[in-house]
Amino acid sequence: MLNAQRCSSNIRTRGPIAVGRQTEITEMIEGSCLCGNVRYELRGPPQSMYYCHCSMCRKATGSSFATNMLVKESDLVIIVGAHLLKAFQSSPGENRYFCSECGSPIYSKARDRENVVSIRCGTLNGDPGIRPTEHIYVASKAPWFEIRDRLPQHLGEPEL
Ligand SMILES: [Zn+2]
Ligand SMILES: [Zn+2]
Repeated sequence: MLNAQRCSSNIRTRGPIAVGRQTEITEMIEGSCLCGNVRYELRGPPQSMYYCHCSMCRKATGSSFATNMLVKESDLVIIVGAHLLKAFQSSPGENRYFCSECGSPIYSKARDRENVVSIRCGTLNGDPGIRPTEHIYVASKAPWFEIRDRLPQHLGEPEL
């Protein structure tokens, strides 16, 4: 479930935020689409970051690959513009949500990945703190792109 909330102000929250019953000192991670009409916050720590070379991520982002980040679905809060998000079902059970005004891909949600969404990191406004740890779907990699780092490469999707 998306927690659609509306904020009447543009206050940027920094510093301590409540996570469940605990209070953790963490930077609020924020992001937005290209036109700025969709803005979101991540209210918990990202679980992992990876490069996805699958042809669907390439086409959905228009890039040679996508940099994605898994976060708990309940930690993703659309602050403004939730009504502008449209979903495209790119494969059975997988929806890709994008801004219907400017086309920015924001996140995807797969039926078989419960309670987790995949954020398109290019829409982040700051540094989320973590770094990519692997390349996935390398079998679909763009032929003009050469991977030059030493991160593990998976032909498809590794077991989570
Ligand atoms: Zn937009
Ligand atoms: Zn992908």
